[in-house]
Amino acid sequence: MTLFETDAPTAAELDARDPLREYRDRFLGADDPEIRAYLDGNSLGRPTKGLPEKIAAFVTDQWGARLIRGWDEQWLDLPVQLGDRIARETLGAAAGQTVVADSTTVSLYKLIRTALHARPGRTEIVIDRGNFPTDRFVVEGVAEETGSVIRWIETDPGAGVTLAEADAVIGENTAVIVLSQIAYRSGYIADVPGITALAHERGALVLWDLCHSVGAIPISLDEWGVDLATGCTYKYLNGGPGSPAFLYVNQALLASARQPIWGWMGDRAPFDMADGYQPAPSIRRFISGTPPIMGMIAMQEMLDLIAEAGIDAIRTKSLALSDYAIALYDERLAPLGVELSTPREHAVRGSHVTVDHPRFSGLMHALWAKGVIPDFRAPSGIRIGLSPLSTSFEEVEIVIDAIHALLTEADASTPVDSTKGA
Ligand SMILES: *Cc1c(COP(=O)(O)O)cnc(C)c1O
Repeated sequence: MTLFETDAPTAAELDARDPLREYRDRFLGADDPEIRAYLDGNSLGRPTKGLPEKIAAFVTDQWGARLIRGWDEQWLDLPVQLGDRIARETLGAAAGQTVVADSTTVSLYKLIRTALHARPGRTEIVIDRGNFPTDRFVVEGVAEETGSVIRWIETDPGAGVTLAEADAVIGENTAVIVLSQIAYRSGYIADVPGITALAHERGALVLWDLCHSVGAIPISLDEWGVDLATGCTYKYLNGGPGSPAFLYVNQALLASARQPIWGWMGDRAPFDMADGYQPAPSIRRFISGTPPIMGMIAMQEMLDLIAEAGIDAIRTKSLALSDYAIALYDERLAPLGVELSTPREHAVRGSHVTVDHPRFSGLMHALWAKGVIPDFRAPSGIRIGLSPLSTSFEEVEIVIDAIHALLTEADASTPVDSTKGA
């Protein structure tokens, strides 16, 4: 199909038909003329429009007026209340299993150690080479600290971990398998229910990293029987730079779960100032120190928007955006030798599209200078993040055309070095 055919809808037509089009106006900066296209909501979502007022009100009415009383009145309960809200709106999880407290990195550490504790005698941790660096680094650190062995899955960078690959490495010594539901580079969606069931058949636990999926695709942690999960809130949950991650522990594991960072806020009675640590009987035991309350404000309004729009409609829009990006790629970038590193099949395609070309690392500065903001992932990938409530079809066309223009300019001005195989 070519989009030059008269019956192919234009970006403006797709935007006009989009049932979620009005949500874009609910984000700050969406009408900023300096930013022609923002395609990085999968790294840092935009702030919602009501946020400046909400933050000001928090400072004035809560922190400023309630002072230390705020902890008893609201803040101590917020990590669990907000966890329950994220669970209900986005994770398909019942209340009492999710808490918001630390970064994803620290949550991964806590959950991997929890899994090893829950599977005594099992010495292996399974992870894939294509997983996000922090996931791999935390696994390496825990392996060194505990004397565990890492079993690496070698993944295709244009895809992600398959059931067959998981099948080949999960064995009777596997304590836990640590994978991302959506691969941060390719956008591939792993078979969470399939791999989870396989791990359970072999007596292992699963820890799913949901950073690139939460808020973008439907998730059913309880139904799938997932043991442990964590994910960022500053990506598709628009919680702002460094907003704390959520952490999920299945009810079945909770009562005996032992996390490694014992702090007073995870104690059964923090203000008893007791002699010895006794973990809280609930998901609170996964909190360690004083939680970052201000970092929990922004995501609340985004959760309102997700609930209002509905996650199924969000997923439909996400696929329409990525279909459009891929159609434009086929027409305008494939002829220039650009590769598509994201699956075409809907069932395994997340909410970003990655295209690769050896010249891309040199183009990023020029793209950003034009107000066109995707991101770059080494060695040669431009990631086009599609945040369904705040990204328009027009932005998708702008980024593809800007990449096309820079590549053709570069082709005209730079002699091609055939030895580099560009
Ligand atoms: C973004 C991301 C992280 C980030 O972890 P932080 O501790 O918030 O820096 C971790 N894992 C994956 C898969 C990510 O995409």
